[in-house]
Amino acid sequence: MASKGWIEVNETYCKGCELCKSACPPGVIGMADHLTPKGYHPAELIAEGCTGCGICTVVCPDAAITVFRELSGAKVRAAEMVA
Ligand code: SF4
Ligand code: SF4
Repeated sequence: MASKGWIEVNETYCKGCELCKSACPPGVIGMADHLTPKGYHPAELIAEGCTGCGICTVVCPDAAITVFRELSGAKVRAAEMVA
């Protein structure tokens, strides 16, 4: 099934704590092989299946994740959607 959501990780803020990885229901977050300038392995999407649920951005202590969802074919930042 095609993804309905996706994330962008701000590697300036991510400290590789893996909270988002543990919290992601479909398990599509992993840790990248490369290091950030601060020396952390940042979070990244590792598979299809992101639902755009937003849990990862809620649990991130460093506000490093922005969640996007597809809405009627348009790509919309989840935080800007009206419930
Ligand atoms: S928005 Fe939800 S499904 Fe997508 S990466 Fe974050 S926790 Fe996982
Ligand atoms: S919860 Fe935030 S700081 Fe921790 S690994 Fe995920 S994106 Fe990085």
